[in-house]
Parts: sequence; structure tokens; C-alpha cells
Amino acid sequence: MTRHIVQYSGGIGSCAAAMRVAERHGTDDMVLLAADAGSEDPDLWRFVKETSAYLGLEPVIVSDGRTPFELFHDVRFLGNSRLAPCSHLLKQKPCREWMEANADPADTIVYIGIENTKRDRARIPGIARNWKPWRVQFPLCNRWEPSRSKAELLAEVRAVGIEPPRIYAWAEHNNCFGKCVRAGKRHWAALWENDPDRYREAERDEQAIREHLGKPVTILREQVGGVKRPLTLREFRLRLEAEAAAERELATAGGGRP
Ligand code: SF4
Repeated sequence: MTRHIVQYSGGIGSCAAAMRVAERHGTDDMVLLAADAGSEDPDLWRFVKETSAYLGLEPVIVSDGRTPFELFHDVRFLGNSRLAPCSHLLKQKPCREWMEANADPADTIVYIGIENTKRDRARIPGIARNWKPWRVQFPLCNRWEPSRSKAELLAEVRAVGIEPPRIYAWAEHNNCFGKCVRAGKRHWAALWENDPDRYREAERDEQAIREHLGKPVTILREQVGGVKRPLTLREFRLRLEAEAAAERELATAGGGRP
């Protein structure tokens, strides 16, 4: 019997993929394989628990035991949008180790819930290569599946009585409690606006790594006058705060006019 192993991230894409695999193959030989990077939103695990129960499965949760920032200390490197060792060492590696011990490549299909967007589809060859020798399928990106927006996927889980992860109210991805080092400025600005405590937490973590390494490393970079420069989360927050204060002042001044 072929085993169907869904890489279950706790995101809406992997949930939608799992639902399609269950519908097509049943759940007797299905596994939801999740990696715990030690820094997820507790609501992500609520979602994993509720969706697994809906499918009648107990998820398999693997873990390296470290958080991304603990790993950055160990490997003496701060993850960023260009290179994020946390993704490989805390997620892919523990999942792969579980697969090596439990899933015969000759008789297993791995399912990845990337969404049917041009950007995500471009990732397919690389993902398939990384998962060799296992066969990989992308349930949301095949020619039988009409392209669905994230809002439609969220509506699908609501329709079966499950509340989607709360982070989708403002974020694109349900990743490491909104503190994903791969994210760009737009995401970090949204984190600052929607969850300032979490932003400050990441800011402290970044500062701790800078002190640990004795180097001016940063998660973010920006381009000024054609030159790339590092941008600390602290500097970025101060800029956002100044912009917000200026906007408030402008609104107050405008409101005072007849
Ligand atoms: S979600 Fe982001 S921070 Fe978390 S493990 Fe993946 S790349 Fe690293």
C-alpha cells in the first residue's frame, strides 16, 4: 500500500493539500508530518490539532529541539532572506530523518501544499529535487485543481467548522510566530503594527546575536542610492515609529482645520 505523507506546516496550504489527499486516497495510509521549530504561534498547534482530529489522524511531530535563534548562536550565523539555515536544520532535516526511518521511497508519495501562484510554482523543481529519492506531488498545483486564492482556502476550513490560524488576519504565512527571518521589510512592518511585543522579541534576539558574534549582522538589508546596507530591526522600528507619529500629527493638524 502506498503511503501518503503530507508535509504539514500548520499553514493553510498544507492543510488544504492534506484535505485533498484524504479525499482522494483516504486516511488509512496517510501521515501528517510536522516539524516543531520551537517558535511557532501556539495557535498554529491549535490549528494542527483541530485539522488532524478532523481528518482522524494523530500528527507526527519531529523536532531538532532548538529554536531558530538558538541555532543561529550555535552555527554563528544569523539567518536572513538570502540564507536561512533554520529552515534546513530545524524543519527539513528532522522531517527527512523521520522519512528515512519510516518511509520506503519505492512506496511513498510526499505531498507539499505550496499554493498555485506563479512564484510558488517556480519552486516546484527545487523542492522535488530536495526530496529525492521520494516522489513528490503538489496537490494545489495540478491541472485538475482550479487556482484558489488564500481567502478561498481559508473559507474551505471555515466551512468544516475550523477557525483558520489567527495570523492570517495580517500575515501571508503562518511561520515562526510572524518572526520569520526570511521575510522582507513589508512583513516586518506588519508584525510591528499587529504584534509589537513579538517584534521587540525578535529585535532583542537580533541584538543578542550581534553581541554574540561581535559583528554587525542583520536580518534585513536595504538599498540606499544603489548600495546595499544592513538594517537592524531596531533601526527599522524607530523609523516606523517616527513615520506613524508624523502621520498622527498630520491627521491631528488636518482634523483641527475648519
Ligand atoms: S519559518 Fe522562517 S524563521 Fe522559522 S524556521 Fe523557517 S525560515 Fe527559519
